[in-house]
Amino acid sequence: MSSSGFVSIVGAGPGDPELLTIKAAKRLGCADVIVHDRLIGEGILNYCREDAELIDAGKTPGGHRIQQEDINRLLVDKAREGKFVVRLKGGDPFVFGRGAEEALFLASAGVPFEVIPGVSSSLAGPAAALIPVTHRCVARSVTIATGHDRDNSCDKVFDWEALAKASDTLVFLMAVENLERIVSNLISHGRNPKQLSALVRWATTPEQQVIFAPLQEIVHIARSRHITPPAVLVVGDTVEIGMELSRAIAYGETPEEVMHAHVA
Ligand code: SAH
Repeated sequence: MSSSGFVSIVGAGPGDPELLTIKAAKRLGCADVIVHDRLIGEGILNYCREDAELIDAGKTPGGHRIQQEDINRLLVDKAREGKFVVRLKGGDPFVFGRGAEEALFLASAGVPFEVIPGVSSSLAGPAAALIPVTHRCVARSVTIATGHDRDNSCDKVFDWEALAKASDTLVFLMAVENLERIVSNLISHGRNPKQLSALVRWATTPEQQVIFAPLQEIVHIARSRHITPPAVLVVGDTVEIGMELSRAIAYGETPEEVMHAHVA
């Protein structure tokens, strides 16, 4: 692969290195260059070759460290040097990761590339907090949305009216910064203020934190606990199942013991 240059756009999963796919670990193990995001779980870069060039293309919420155009350019330049480049992105590269923009840029530059799907925090976040995003009798649909409803660089308008009623379960990524606006828009466009919601922060990592609250109270609780990004917001009746399962596990038994008891 490396003789002609190639870019592998790889999903790194939500944080826990054990949630990296086997394919992702294999790609990391042979890459010459790894261009990675900020939200890459600790330990994941241990899969890289010792002599690999690591480039942190992470972006902080307020200020971009490297502009997207520069990342695109970098991928093309490194590939044209004949390198095997892994573009390592948090979660799944095509879920709010701008992976598609990078793939389109590579395609237009004629650089060969592939996409390795990853475990997205949009689904793994709720699951790690024991919240099923669907349940046969409770929720039959789920919507994944961004919490950043304003983006001056494109004129795609956020349709709160449709989103508030879009599905039984709503999952918001990048939800912390605009939490007030998300919640007030959902409620003013018809979502039940008493419906349960949850914020799952640093899901699947040792720092994981979960808060449960009715939608109308989640902002107050999140702010009083100083919840900071990254976190996913889940809104829907299945959050109650997450609470119930969390209580079951909190009975002093380990998850393995609970699982055993249920299987036996
Ligand atoms: N492509 C990524 C999402 C990138 S957008 C994916 O599929 O997961 C970045 C947002 O993802 C963060 O603001 C946060 O909302 C969410 N996120 C990523 N990792 C997370 C984690 N471990 N716990 C909770 N939220 C996470």
